[in-house]
Amino acid sequence: MELSIARERCQGAGMCVLTAPEVFDQSEADGRVVLVETTPPVERQAAVHEAAELCPAGAITVHGPRGHSGPSPV
Ligand code: SF4
Repeated sequence: MELSIARERCQGAGMCVLTAPEVFDQSEADGRVVLVETTPPVERQAAVHEAAELCPAGAITVHGPRGHSGPSPV
């Protein structure tokens, strides 16, 4: 799993931080999301998927393995 965020879309609602606090944080400067872990470990991936689904701005993108058509990481 690899994550990317679109900070310009973030509304600063903080759902991602509440759902996966080890992975997401909010900037003290502008209140928008900050990505703490770009490649979260397996035990946090369910929370990351949930955060991506809950984000009202669609600012969180999860790359693989769900919906990933490229080669599997070894
Ligand atoms: S849930 Fe979405 S809109 Fe809310 S802080 Fe996180 S990235 Fe930003």
